[in-house]
Amino acid sequence: MPLDTEHLDEICEDIRFQFENGIANYPMFMMQLVPEGTPPVNKAKMLSEKYVLFRDKLRSMGLKSGILIQCSIGHGYTLNSPSPFKKYVNLNDGKEETVCCPYDDDLCAHFKDAMKTLAQTEPDLLMLDDDFRLIFRGGNGCACPMHMARFNELAGTDLTREELFQILKKRQRRRIRENLRGNAKRIAYQSGDGNA
Ligand SMILES: [Zn+2]
Repeated sequence: MPLDTEHLDEICEDIRFQFENGIANYPMFMMQLVPEGTPPVNKAKMLSEKYVLFRDKLRSMGLKSGILIQCSIGHGYTLNSPSPFKKYVNLNDGKEETVCCPYDDDLCAHFKDAMKTLAQTEPDLLMLDDDFRLIFRGGNGCACPMHMARFNELAGTDLTREELFQILKKRQRRRIRENLRGNAKRIAYQSGDGNA
């Protein structure tokens, strides 16, 4: 649900309609908290002030509500103003994204503070919907200076991003080849041609 305070009554009535008709039983109000601006704008505070208006109105109607954080480190779209936090760097091509790297202590401190602000509104439910599996993002993982330094420290290596990517790419290819070979043999065996 949008935190559109100009249509607070209509939105709350719509929520009641959905609740009473078995369409939806738990309204979640969306907050996109991706950091913007230097220093970062306090989005958690601004949006919390709107959320409590909905929370109170819904509680007076006997309904619960929650907060849905739908964008925290960023989804890759262009921001109006960049934040000072360290950014995700594509492992495959070295390009810096608008997504923040969650390995940055300053970013973690920023979000700890934001979560505290949200918790103080006492929502009935708080849900974080974001993808922290960095390897599944477009660049195949984060190769920012912090991540590269930590990788080299743990692995006892001194690899550059390019070198690491080439090694991983080869291993990936080898694994795919082995899987294909294994599956081809299995299929051949099942079809009665074990020599294939
Ligand atoms: Zn990183």
